[in-house]
Amino acid sequence: MNLIKIGKFIADCRKNKKLTQEDLAEKLYITDRAVSKWERGLSLPDADKMLDLCNILDINVNELLNGEKIDMKDYEQKNEELLLELAKQDEIKNKRLITDMWVITITAFVFYTALIIISALFLGEGPIFATITIISTIILLAVCFYGFKLEVDSGYYECRHCHHIFEEKNYFKLLFAPHAGTSRYQKCPKCGKGTMAKKVMSKGENK
Ligand SMILES: [Zn+2]
Repeated sequence: MNLIKIGKFIADCRKNKKLTQEDLAEKLYITDRAVSKWERGLSLPDADKMLDLCNILDINVNELLNGEKIDMKDYEQKNEELLLELAKQDEIKNKRLITDMWVITITAFVFYTALIIISALFLGEGPIFATITIISTIILLAVCFYGFKLEVDSGYYECRHCHHIFEEKNYFKLLFAPHAGTSRYQKCPKCGKGTMAKKVMSKGENK
């Protein structure tokens, strides 16, 4: 997505409507600084403002995100390009989340193990060692839960029987499901079979 192009497009449409940045900001209940940021390509309008903005400027969301007016004959192609672009962004975001998950949990385990070994060597058994063990175990569990949350938040699950791709954000249900790596045992919402659902990063990974 080209923020500079989108920004210029917003500015052009606004001027066509004979609105100042202040006028536009007022209609959207936001500051004129936010409008100025969009127009300079520094940020995108929030999703909840996009529809109102499009209504005011007499354009549609597709045109807004493409940064240009779209002829009806080009419409389908542009639409497809946009969907692909959004899917790509989604995949990038999901890959980042899952990388964060691995980095955070592995680092936590390394620190935990090192801390326990060092304390055992230098402190020996006793109340201080016990306290350190208990506190660091609690911290480790918290970090693991955070890692688990990142894992659930990223991507989708694929049924190994029918290859249907689905989303499952129920932490409680997933937490107690048997798992191997990032695959988790679930019931496929489409074919209804129990499956070791595979983690996939995009809806299009279905082969
Ligand atoms: Zn299935």
